[in-house]
Amino acid sequence: MADPEFINATLKERRDSAKDLGVFVFEPEQELSWVSGQYCTLGIMEEEKRIERPYSLASASFEKRLELFVELVLDGGLSPLLWKLKIGDTVTVRPKIRGKFTLDIESDRKTHFMVSTVTGAAPYVSMIRHHQEHHDELKSAGHRFFMIHGGSHSHELTYVDELNKIQADADWLTYIPTVSRPQEDPDWKGETGRVEDVIRKYFDQLDCPASDVTAYLCGHPGMIETARRILARAGMQKEQILEEQYLPAATS
Ligand SMILES: Cc1cc2nc3c(=O)[nH]c(=O)nc-3n(C[C@H](O)[C@H](O)[C@H](O)COP(=O)(O)OP(=O)(O)OC[C@H]3O[C@@H](n4cnc5c(N)ncnc54)[C@H](O)[C@@H]3O)c2cc1C
Repeated sequence: MADPEFINATLKERRDSAKDLGVFVFEPEQELSWVSGQYCTLGIMEEEKRIERPYSLASASFEKRLELFVELVLDGGLSPLLWKLKIGDTVTVRPKIRGKFTLDIESDRKTHFMVSTVTGAAPYVSMIRHHQEHHDELKSAGHRFFMIHGGSHSHELTYVDELNKIQADADWLTYIPTVSRPQEDPDWKGETGRVEDVIRKYFDQLDCPASDVTAYLCGHPGMIETARRILARAGMQKEQILEEQYLPAATS
């Protein structure tokens, strides 16, 4: 029998970290498999029309559930419908999970430099959870992860506690959360500045040649564009930089 075009997935958990930021955890009716960093295509029916959008998976494949970290776009087609969902409601998911924004294990490069703003952290959360649970051979081969995660305020760094906890036990992970409006966040004790401002500082601390690094840029096209230029100036070649843009780049 041919694979179905869509399967149902039931909302099992929802955590709101701000009024426009949420983590949604769905249980698909059939087991799906994916590689950390890939995205699912989620759909909700409205007025007999299916509205679909891609979302990176924050969960690793071994977790079985589809965990999404989503920003609400008030005038958007799908995200406002997601915000109306209650536990037990269903959405559709395309069974084929797609994407090429996955950990570079084909090259000889062992330093993985990951850059994101807010929801762009999702694929790295999946990669880090996977790496923590599996891949002993990669760990023993000396693979290292550096993840820069920026937001305007600390409440946008939804996975900060989980990632800090993993980092505390893992010599392979350096997690760098940064807040760009610290004046509005007086309790924040971590790094400050926009992602673009801290990239160079941490890149220079990598203690390896640029040729040993694979960089990953995920989220807003403006951040990706700037980060790409900074990394090129730091000596990285185009093929060393992987990108996942959540929005089309602005055209002038
Ligand atoms: C591979 C891939 C993975 C993605 N993963 C995620 C993810 O993990 N989390 C996530 O939140 N989104 C992710 N996105 C974006 C997501 O697919 C939707 O585009 C987003 O949720 C908005 O959908 P919408 O239907 O609500 O708005 P749309 O109807 O698609 O857009 C309405 C308008 O808002 C603009 N817009 C869309 N998103 C934003 C935004 N974030 N900020 C400002 N303006 C915006 C659009 O350009 C358009 O003009 C991903 C996109 C891609 C291509």
